[in-house]
Amino acid sequence: MNRDLLWRLPKAELHVHLDGSIRPQTMIELAREQGVRLPAADPEALKRAVHVRHARSLEEYLERYQITLSVMRTPAALERIAYEFLLDAAAENLRYVEVRYCPALHADGMSLVEAVEAPLAGLRRAEKETGALGRLIICGLRTLDPKISLDLARLAVDYRRDGVVAFDLAGAERGHPAAAHARAFEYALSHGLKCTCHAGEGDGAHSIWQALEICGAHRIGHGTRLYEDPELEGYVRERRIPLEVCLTSNVHTGTVASLEEHPVRRYLDEGMVVTLNTDSRLVDGTTLTDELWAAHTRLGLGRKEIERIILSGFESAFLPEPEKESLLAEVRAELEALR
Ligand SMILES: [Zn+2]
Repeated sequence: MNRDLLWRLPKAELHVHLDGSIRPQTMIELAREQGVRLPAADPEALKRAVHVRHARSLEEYLERYQITLSVMRTPAALERIAYEFLLDAAAENLRYVEVRYCPALHADGMSLVEAVEAPLAGLRRAEKETGALGRLIICGLRTLDPKISLDLARLAVDYRRDGVVAFDLAGAERGHPAAAHARAFEYALSHGLKCTCHAGEGDGAHSIWQALEICGAHRIGHGTRLYEDPELEGYVRERRIPLEVCLTSNVHTGTVASLEEHPVRRYLDEGMVVTLNTDSRLVDGTTLTDELWAAHTRLGLGRKEIERIILSGFESAFLPEPEKESLLAEVRAELEALR
């Protein structure tokens, strides 16, 4: 296997933050339009300023998002960022992406409705040009008032026929239990919306239990620290709950000491449903191809395992079943043809 082949394989991505995945040049142009000061004026220097290599914690890692969020204050900016995001993903042969963000973080410059309609319009525009499907996940934040999470879950439900496929809970994990936001999950689930939840990244296995048992999440964002609780591992395996694994990001946040120590190998060997994702393209300085390449070169995953991960990405998508099945049929045929 080589990097070029990984680039050409059809791929799906389920865990990536819109506010962490902006083109540096676009940030500079948007900052100029909006009168915002950035830490650097040329794209390469800005890339370095936003890129996190070794944060001491998830909290420190999340601070970088203040820089990207500073230029996401108009509907036009959100539309453009979502549009370019899907173009870049499609250029890497991603056929399906669920991109997430928290509309409440953009509410000082626009209404919540504008904050959701703008990125949906950007995704639709890119979808028409590329054929790649882009869907949105709306995130509540652990550090915000749970009432805001409930408002965001309502917003997600209101747009469930227009491209929003799920509700998520993100943000600093330790000391901010998901259970406090249970009503938001309950609202989403009771209205037929799928849910995922960041857990087992900035905190331990008990946080994953809460995401699954109290919040009813269908997938787990990261789930890196699942290995801390063998009973929970069994639960996740038996129920085939997909893990949204983000290798590079986990090194950057200090969730794992190095890529080689990442437990994903163990999760695959145990038969869990593993998907690979970037978490963010700019903040983590990566692409989905880079993540697959790292899994191959640094964790020793072979072609069969890579193909399994790719198929798990499509199988775990929050798409209606008929749509998912036809996409999967195309992807299977294409993987076969590239063998
Ligand atoms: Zn994330």
